Amino acid sequence: MKKEKTDQDQFIELDVKKLQHIEAERKRHLTSVLQRMPDMHFMRCPRCSRALKEKTITDITIVICVQCKGIWIDDESLVKVLSLSGDMADDFINHVKK
Ligand SMILES: [Zn+2]
Repeated sequence: MKKEKTDQDQFIELDVKKLQHIEAERKRHLTSVLQRMPDMHFMRCPRCSRALKEKTITDITIVICVQCKGIWIDDESLVKVLSLSGDMADDFINHVKK
């Protein structure tokens, strides 16, 4: 036996549809914000305020200022750089200067 929908049932269905729409809009907005995160976190040089460029040389990642050529390096990469010797150290320096 099919039960007739009451006004209350119809209001509840309407509320559920509104909530589903709001949730879909929230997810769409969140996705949009997350896709723009790299732009929002664009790095600037603390010395001259110009753009910083990430550069990976072998497995060592450094960040270089495009203007003043300042170099920023995290602790893990610094340990790797300090462990380089001889030709490997020279190659690293040459790649940094490029
Ligand atoms: Zn700079």
